[in-house]
Amino acid sequence: MQIAVAGAGIAGSTAAWRLQQAGHHVTLFEQAEKCHPVGAGIMLQPSGQAVLHELGLLDDVVRDSSRIGRLHAKHQNGRTLVDLQYQRLSCQACARGVRRSVIFRLLFERCQNEGVRIMENTRLLNISQDGNVVHVVDGVSNRHGPFDLLIAADGSASTLRQASGIPTRIKEYQDAALWVVGPWSGDETCLQQLVGRDGRLVGILPVGGGECSFFWGLRKSEEKATREAGLQQWQAQVAEFCPAASEIVGQLQSMDDVIFSSYRNARMSRVIDRRVVWIGDSAHATSPHLGQGLNLALQDSLALVRALQSSEDIDSALADYESARSSTTAFYGRLTGWLTPFFQTPNRLLQFGRDLALPVMPRLPWIGTQMLLTMAGMKTGWLADQREAIEALLNDRNDDQMEK
Ligand SMILES: Cc1cc2nc3c(=O)[nH]c(=O)nc-3n(C[C@H](O)[C@H](O)[C@H](O)COP(=O)(O)OP(=O)(O)OC[C@H]3O[C@@H](n4cnc5c(N)ncnc54)[C@H](O)[C@@H]3O)c2cc1C
Repeated sequence: MQIAVAGAGIAGSTAAWRLQQAGHHVTLFEQAEKCHPVGAGIMLQPSGQAVLHELGLLDDVVRDSSRIGRLHAKHQNGRTLVDLQYQRLSCQACARGVRRSVIFRLLFERCQNEGVRIMENTRLLNISQDGNVVHVVDGVSNRHGPFDLLIAADGSASTLRQASGIPTRIKEYQDAALWVVGPWSGDETCLQQLVGRDGRLVGILPVGGGECSFFWGLRKSEEKATREAGLQQWQAQVAEFCPAASEIVGQLQSMDDVIFSSYRNARMSRVIDRRVVWIGDSAHATSPHLGQGLNLALQDSLALVRALQSSEDIDSALADYESARSSTTAFYGRLTGWLTPFFQTPNRLLQFGRDLALPVMPRLPWIGTQMLLTMAGMKTGWLADQREAIEALLNDRNDDQMEK
C-alpha cells in the first residue's frame, strides 16, 4: 500500500518505520523544518516498555534512563499526599524516567534506515477522499497522493482532526508548565512532586546520566510575566518553593532555555473516517498528569501495525484497530479529564477533597492496586487490565538479561 503518515512524533515514527519494514511504501510528513530529537523527561510506564521491548528498542532506552520505583507527592507543609510504589505490583515492576528525545531518536533513525520517504517542513492542513483514495494538502496548497491510507499522528493540536469535522470533546486547560533538564544528585529512583497551597505543582523526574527533568506548574497566563521578570527571579522563586530544584535551575543561562507547554484534553468520538485513522495524541490528547501520553501513543502504533498485518483488507484492519484500542483510550482520557482539575488547583474545596482522599486511597486494598495498575498503564477499561500480558513480556526480557 501507499501510506501517508502525518506527524513524525512518537506515534507517527513508530507506525511509519514498522509499516515500511512490512513492505508498504510510507511517506512521513512533518511540519518541523528539520526533525530533531527534542523534549524533556517522560515516564515510560511498563505498558510503554512492553511495546519498546516488542520493537527491540527497550535495551537502548534502559541504558539512557533512570529506574523509577516510586511516585512520591508531598504537600508544601511536608505531609505526604500520595506514595505509590511499583514493587507492590511485582518486585521487578518499575517505570523509566527518560528524555523524550532518546525514544524519538531511536524511532526516527529506524525510519531513515528503513527507507521511509520523509517530507520535512510540510505542514498538512487538509484531507480529500474520493472512493478508496486519499490525498493530503499542505500549507502551500500542494496536493500529495494518492494514498491507500492516511495515518494522522499530528499531536494534541491536530489540524487534521479539526479538518475532519469529526465531533471531538476538547478542553483547553488554563494550567501549563515550564520544563528544563538539568543536573541532579538527589534520589535517582523516585518521581517527586510538590504541591503548594496556591495550586502550584512542581516535579522532579530523574532521566539517567545524573540528570533530571524539572517541571514548574503555572497558569498559562503567567508565562509572559515569568519570562519578563527574568531568570534570577524565577530561580529565586524555585529555590524558595522547592529547594531541591535549585541545583537544576541554577545552571541555566537564560529563560530561553526553559520550555513552555500548555495542555488540552481532546477525545474524538470516532477515530476512523473511511481510509483515515487518527492515533496518539491527535485522537486522545490528555494532560501530562497521569503520565500516559507517550505510552498510549506507542501502544496505538503497534496495535495499528498488527491490525494491518493480520487483516485481509484495510476496512476490517481499521475496525479491528478501533475495537482493540477504544476501551483503553476512553478509560485514560476520561480519568485524566476528571482528575486534572484536582492536580494543579487553587480552589480550596478541590484541594481539601484531594488532600483528604489521596493519602488514604493507596492503602485501601482494591483501590490501591487499581491506582498502581492505572499509573503503570496496564488498565484497559474501568474493570479490565492487561497486567498479566505486560508482566509476562517484561519478565521474558528480564530472564533474557539474566542469561546474558
Ligand atoms: C517537540 C515535542 C516535545 C515534547 N516534549 C515532551 C516532554 O518533554 N514531555 C512529555 O511528557 N511529552 C512531550 N511531548 C508530547 C509527547 O511526545 C506526546 O504526548 C506523546 O509522545 C504522544 O505522541 P504523538 O506522536 O501522538 O504526538 P507528538 O509526539 O506530539 O508528535 C506529533 C508530531 O506531529 C507534528 N505535526 C503537528 N501538526 C502537523 C501537521 N499539521 N502536519 C505535519 N506534522 C504535524 C509535530 O511537529 C510532531 O512532530 C512533546 C511533543 C513534541 C512534539
